[in-house]
Amino acid sequence: MQTIADRLINTRQHIQKATVSAKRPEHSVQLLAVSKTKPVSDIQLAYEAGQRLFGENYIQEGVSKIQSLNSLTDIEWHMIGPIQSNKTKIVAEHFDWVQSVDRLKIARRLNDQRPADMPPLNVCIQLNIDEEDSKSGIKPEELPALVQEIVTMPRLVLRGLMAIPANNVTPAAQQETLATLQALYNDLASQFDSVDTLSVGMSNDMQAAIHYGSTMVRIGTAIFGARQ
Ligand SMILES: *Cc1c(COP(=O)(O)O)cnc(C)c1O
Repeated sequence: MQTIADRLINTRQHIQKATVSAKRPEHSVQLLAVSKTKPVSDIQLAYEAGQRLFGENYIQEGVSKIQSLNSLTDIEWHMIGPIQSNKTKIVAEHFDWVQSVDRLKIARRLNDQRPADMPPLNVCIQLNIDEEDSKSGIKPEELPALVQEIVTMPRLVLRGLMAIPANNVTPAAQQETLATLQALYNDLASQFDSVDTLSVGMSNDMQAAIHYGSTMVRIGTAIFGARQ
């Protein structure tokens, strides 16, 4: 049976291969290990195998893991799930990153509630790039207005964009989506020095996402096994 350490090695190899085949610099794609629903002990095993970036979807669960593992000070915790406005305070007080900022109200509250003794909160704007009803995120045409607001907020640092492209689409449709996302990201990065992150690509579309400029892939099942 494969251990979490084995599966991390495999995942890193896949990322490495895709990066080389896309003719991109080595280490230009980071791995976010998505540990939602998995126990703290699994995160510890991944940590011992060298993993430092972890992603959580559910606020209470994520915060309780952050608190249990607070002695591991070099973990970077990323919130990647939807956030209701009455939950922003606890997110602002615990996470290092929020990748799922999808409206002005959430950004404002995170900015207001980020504690003064913590570094500014790193944020990505979540784009609903294929405009699917089932997914959160803003439409591409709403991006400039939200960006203009966020870059004025002193307790937030705009790091980039996050998206979950539709699956079960043709390769051509997938490529078109990824190319659109890459163009939006490049445009943003050319305007703001703080922007260095395009968070796109999961197990099934990682290779294509890396080809289209992803700088961070989010992988859960391939590292921790299937969820209940
Ligand atoms: C769950 C989740 C992932 C990881 O999904 P897997 O299929 O387990 O690799 C990545 N990104 C987001 C936003 C998720 O919710």
